[in-house]
Amino acid sequence: MKPGFEVVIGLEIHVQLLTRSKMFCACRNVYGAAPNAHTCPVCLGLPGALPVLNKEAVRMALSLGLALGARIQTKSVFYRKQYFYPDLPKGYQITQGPVAVVEEGSVTIAGDPEVRGNAAPIAIRIERAHLEEDAGKSNHERSDTATYVDLNRAGVPLLEIVGGPDLRSANEAYDYLKALHRLVTFLGICDGNMEEGSFRCDANVSVRRTGAAAFGTRVEVKNLNSFRHVKMAIEHEAARHIVLLEKGESFTQETRGWDADTGETKSQRTKEAAMDYRFFPEPDLPALTITQDEIETVRRALPELPEARRNRFIREYGLTDYEAGMLLQSRGFATYFEAVAKAANGKQAANWMLGEVSRALNETGREIETLGLDAAQLAELIQLVEAKTINLNTAKEAVFPRLLRGEGTPRQIAEKQGLAQVSDRDTIETLVQEVIRAHPEQLAQVKAGNEKLKGFFVGQVMKAGKGKVNPQLVNEILEATFDH
Ligand code: ADP
Ligand code: ZN
Ligand code: MG
Repeated sequence: MKPGFEVVIGLEIHVQLLTRSKMFCACRNVYGAAPNAHTCPVCLGLPGALPVLNKEAVRMALSLGLALGARIQTKSVFYRKQYFYPDLPKGYQITQGPVAVVEEGSVTIAGDPEVRGNAAPIAIRIERAHLEEDAGKSNHERSDTATYVDLNRAGVPLLEIVGGPDLRSANEAYDYLKALHRLVTFLGICDGNMEEGSFRCDANVSVRRTGAAAFGTRVEVKNLNSFRHVKMAIEHEAARHIVLLEKGESFTQETRGWDADTGETKSQRTKEAAMDYRFFPEPDLPALTITQDEIETVRRALPELPEARRNRFIREYGLTDYEAGMLLQSRGFATYFEAVAKAANGKQAANWMLGEVSRALNETGREIETLGLDAAQLAELIQLVEAKTINLNTAKEAVFPRLLRGEGTPRQIAEKQGLAQVSDRDTIETLVQEVIRAHPEQLAQVKAGNEKLKGFFVGQVMKAGKGKVNPQLVNEILEATFDH
């Protein structure tokens, strides 16, 4: 950020809820079906059809509210937000009014040291999270003369999470978005798929001169469908504002669209052109009332939250903050790690997950669930190393790739390939003697005090033993030989 300026960001996140059916009808809530396969009179907006509220969506909203430490409003009312668009069959969207079911929560992130001076944890306010329904999708590509409309998404439950204007850099916005993404996926209320639009984000961005009390004019940037683009769009927008502010140009509040191809934002509509949504309470739905009992039931069913899990990983398995954070990259990854850690050594399990397993995931572009590697087998591999049956290098380079290819259990692979670690003293002594005899000059140097050359001998013996000899024994026997 240019000195003398401060950027202020507030995110609005739309979370598609993983309910079985839609928000106000019994149609299935699934992605990728044939166009309009999941529609009915309610989500098509046919006259006379009546909406019925999905209780599962309410339960999911409550679980997010409780996870955010928010206030649950025991009475909130649905409203009609009216506008005309081809993919909005009713001519209005049902959303919540001035009172949202979830209000005043917060999410803690590490502050950005570049703008705050240190990385101390900072609470980012959540103003509200309200329930609403999604619109359908227009397809403009299919024809030059017509727009095709798919209403499978019309009426899919959404939770809109409105964050306070508390973020001060693109990095903080990124961390905040990651934290919420992790929260909703760990809670199991959203699949978090940004490409399919299940987790979407609009960024409100303004810039002010450092020390100014009032916020600058904000723009709302839409169409951000990856974490990277959120960051890029905020950086681009902040830089654009600074240029305007330095030129002394005034500009107005507006909505802009992010163009991922050009890496720029383009004006969509200005505040003057803002729509009048003619909000009014939805007459076909009763107010949403929540009882204390319902709140307690959801509270009891809450899974362990990511932050708690991270602290437990550090405590129980002796991991660093960084390792624990990396293991929480997804709920599946964290759960898999725990399965391995319980059956083998926790620290080793973390090393494998963040080393070989992550590399395999990157190389194949898969998720841990589809890698085809059983947690029990990875645990067995770690145990074979711990028991010194095979050495770590052999495990990584010879057994693990075969395990991934499904060539058997770690034990079977080690046996079949003759990979068992050699811990036989006589065999290693013989190798050591051979290597020493072959390198008299280096030996003289070691004896003269060249400590560094010892590593050379270790390497030579390991090589002579085809990488299978026990490295600790090699060291021990070499040392004894040097001392002679
Ligand atoms: P609206 O009434 O248009 O919905 P809100 O005041 O509710 O506007 O804010 C919507 C979003 O914009 C929130 O996420 C909020 O944090 C953010 N926001 C509000 N003012 C600013 C600002 N000056 N700069 C950046 N973000 C802002
Ligand atoms: Zn329907
Ligand atoms: Mg608002």
